Amino acid sequence: MAFRWSAASGELSCPVCQDTFKDPVLLNCSHSFCQACVRKWWRTKRTRECPVCKTVSSTKSPPRNLVLKNLCEAFLLEVESGVVCPLHTEKLKLYCEDHRTPVCVVCRDSTSHRNHTFTPVNEAAEFHRNGLQEHLTPLRAKVKLFREVKATWEKTEGEIKNQSQRTEETIREEFDVLRRFLLQEETARIAALKEEEELKTQMMRNKIAVVSEQINFMESTIKSIEGGLNDEDTSFLLKVDAITKEVQRPLPDDPEQVTGALIDVGKHLGNMSFDVWIKMKDIVSYTPVIMNSNTANEDLHFFFQAMEENKIIEDKIRDKRGLYGSHTGEI
Ligand SMILES: [Zn+2]
Ligand SMILES: [Zn+2]
Ligand SMILES: [Zn+2]
Ligand SMILES: [Zn+2]
Repeated sequence: MAFRWSAASGELSCPVCQDTFKDPVLLNCSHSFCQACVRKWWRTKRTRECPVCKTVSSTKSPPRNLVLKNLCEAFLLEVESGVVCPLHTEKLKLYCEDHRTPVCVVCRDSTSHRNHTFTPVNEAAEFHRNGLQEHLTPLRAKVKLFREVKATWEKTEGEIKNQSQRTEETIREEFDVLRRFLLQEETARIAALKEEEELKTQMMRNKIAVVSEQINFMESTIKSIEGGLNDEDTSFLLKVDAITKEVQRPLPDDPEQVTGALIDVGKHLGNMSFDVWIKMKDIVSYTPVIMNSNTANEDLHFFFQAMEENKIIEDKIRDKRGLYGSHTGEI
């Protein structure tokens, strides 16, 4: 702005309050004052005289000085924006290196800045701009890097959810296989038990039928003998030959003791869970290729460790089989 505030600043202060005009009014003697200041003056003096030249105003409502009002507002705006020195109303054209602040030419000559170093504001600004510019490049690079990391982490966040869903599905599938296997095993074992029950029940029924027939046969002979013994002599003698013939029929052999009639519970229950476990091993796949995405290197270590442990378990199973003949053998 070509306009010099220093020249105007004297014109911008009210002679009464010495401050920048607020809502200035123009008296007919051409002097201007803040509206509030002139009214207060008039109240005190009990006459409408000008505080400067004592001319009495012809009106009690002097017109507003709009040009001056606008000028004052523009001035205050410049002071607020820091372009004008608030102390001397001069433009801040210099930069005090010691105070690290812009100052006006009057400030430069004041005692508070004695022996200080001054630079024109444009040079100082250029210098400080360059200084800040240097910070900008590494800062921008860092923001770029951080943004990339953030994007990666956001992707990871999404991937965690997918991973969890996929893994849950696999867990459910594998447990389904195990459950189906166990159900099949259970069904097969109960079927084998029912078959044995059926067979052995039938065998006992056959034996019971034979022995019942033999009992009937012998009881009918006993009845014949008893009938004869109780008869009158004549009628007894008439029957005696037939009774004797009946008695002479060969008696059935004594029933043999039945062995293995009962269900072999040991066969069904002995070693059952162990046998099922051994059988289950065939459908269980050990898949060391599935590495932990976080610790792929560590996994190699655990893989070899797991291989070692698996070998120990298999050795133990082999020992157990050796001890009891075979894995389906009876203990
Ligand atoms: Zn005033
Ligand atoms: Zn006047
Ligand atoms: Zn100043
Ligand atoms: Zn200074």
